[in-house]
Order: sequence, then structure tokens, then C-alpha cells
Amino acid sequence: MSAGPARAPAYVGRFAPSPTGPLHAGSLVAALASWLDARSHGGRWLVRIEDVDTPRCVAGMDAVILGQLAACGLEPDAPPCWQSTRGDVYAQALQTLIDTGAAYPCDCTRREIDEALAAQGVVHERFAERIYPGTCRPRPDGTGGPRGRSRVAWRLRAGGVVDWDDRRLGPQQQDVASAVGDFVLRRADGVWAYQLAVVVDDAAQGVTDVVRGEDLADNTARQILLQSALGLPTPHYLHTPLVRGADGHKLSKQNGAAPLELGDATHAVGALQSAGSVLGLPAISATAPAAWLAAARPAWHGIMRGFATRSTS
Ligand code: GLU
Repeated sequence: MSAGPARAPAYVGRFAPSPTGPLHAGSLVAALASWLDARSHGGRWLVRIEDVDTPRCVAGMDAVILGQLAACGLEPDAPPCWQSTRGDVYAQALQTLIDTGAAYPCDCTRREIDEALAAQGVVHERFAERIYPGTCRPRPDGTGGPRGRSRVAWRLRAGGVVDWDDRRLGPQQQDVASAVGDFVLRRADGVWAYQLAVVVDDAAQGVTDVVRGEDLADNTARQILLQSALGLPTPHYLHTPLVRGADGHKLSKQNGAAPLELGDATHAVGALQSAGSVLGLPAISATAPAAWLAAARPAWHGIMRGFATRSTS
């Protein structure tokens, strides 16, 4: 019997904060955009707490963030998911990558990586991506591989140019091998890398559309490589404009982001309005977050049309 024409999967969006600090004006932009996009597509909106990098997480911050979202009327359609509970699932995904030869162990120290790069004439700039020189990557002639230390990180063999189309930024391209090299999936201290956890969880939650801040755009090619290595679908991506701090960098606690002031409905509406204006939404007069959000939904359609025009021009 014919199955009929293929149907696009129903829209599922998500907001995935790391509980390293409370939401600020910049993170609310991503939360609001992902919520508006999901609602405008008649889709579901999920929240995932990305607490894999335990040394950076602050106890109790997940509850603070969920409270801030609720104060803004941004309620997920299912109970939130915590990445710290999902180690077994990440381990299974890593095992698949090991079994297919896509992942390999690496016991280089940071210093050894810097020395290998220096020997190649590469000077490591502060804050710049350290492109792994491939020391532990097994070679066809049997050389390479780790030195036999007890603690190893796992890396993905990164090869190939990845092309993708961002719904706001338009066509994008990254040669992952030359831009970041073989990247880490699990650190030597056992912490799961963001790249692996995000790819496994987006697929597990059926996420069709990732809407997040533009500072994360250059992770997308790595995530697409991992999706294809794991046989997982690639969602659509939309990267939202950033709010910048006084130093011109993405707004963060370090450059003066204040936690959102959400004491009452007026403050919450003010915070939504500021986030909305970063996204290009017009001023909306409302006395409560729910009314503000209801009025913002139709306006988001116009914003999306602007994105689509830009991405095909
Ligand atoms: N947890 C990441 C952050 O807070 C966001 C990850 C994502 O949206 O893919 O920066």
C-alpha cells in the first residue's frame, strides 16, 4: 500500500540554557525567538537545561531560569529535561562513533597540543579555537594513537566542508577540519562535550528547528557532521541577533549583564519588549506577559518573511 506523500515532521523547538547564571537581556532574546517561532508554526516548545559542564554550573540556577521564563509567560509544553541525567545516552552515542571508527581516543595535554601547533608554526592566539594538530589520530600506516595514559578524551575525526542554510543569516559554509580540527566529544575528566550532548538531545526530543543566539552559529557545522556520523536528522537553524555589552562582545555576566528585573508584570512586559525590539518586533502595548506574547505572535510572521527574503537574496 502506498504511504502517500511524505509529511514534514511537526515543528518542535527548544530553548537550551546553561545554568551558569540567571537569564539576562541577551539570553531572553533567544528564549523569546524560539518560543515565538514554535508558536507561529503551531509547534511545541521545550526547555532543556544544559548542565553537562558541571564545573561551570551554579547550584539552583536551573530553578531561577525556569522561574524567570515562567514570569515572562514562556512555559514549556513538557517538563524540562536535564542533561546531567543523560550520561548513559551520550555514552551509547559515543560507542556508536567508536565502533564505526569516527571517534578516537586522545591523551594529549593542552601543553602538548600547543607545542605541536608551535612546531607547525601555528601561534595560538588567546581565546582562539585551538585546532587539534591530529597527534593521536590513528593513521593508515598504524602510527598515531594515544601514548597510553590512563585518562583519555574522545575526538571526532572531522573531515569535509559543511554547507547549511541559516534561516536568518542565509547560506553558510565551514571546512570543519581546517576551522576547528578533530573536536572533543568527551573530555579526559569525563565531562561530555556540548557538541555531542546537544546533537543527541535535539534528536531525542524530535527538535525540528533550533533557534538560538548568533554566537553559537559556528558550532552548527560540527553539529551537522555529528548528526550525519550518528545517522540523525539535521534540524533547521535560525541564529538570532546578539545583545552586546559595553565592550562590544556578546552580553554576559563578565561584561555587565544584569539579571532580568522581573518583579512584576510591568517589568516582565518591559523585558519582553526589549528582547522583541532586538528581534525587530514593533512596540506592543500590554499590561501582562500573556497579552504581550499573544500580540507578538502575528508580528513574528512579518519578521520571518524578512529572514526568508534575506536568506535567498
Ligand atoms: N546551552 C547553550 C548556551 O546556553 C545553548 C545551546 C544551544 O542552544 O544549542 O549557550
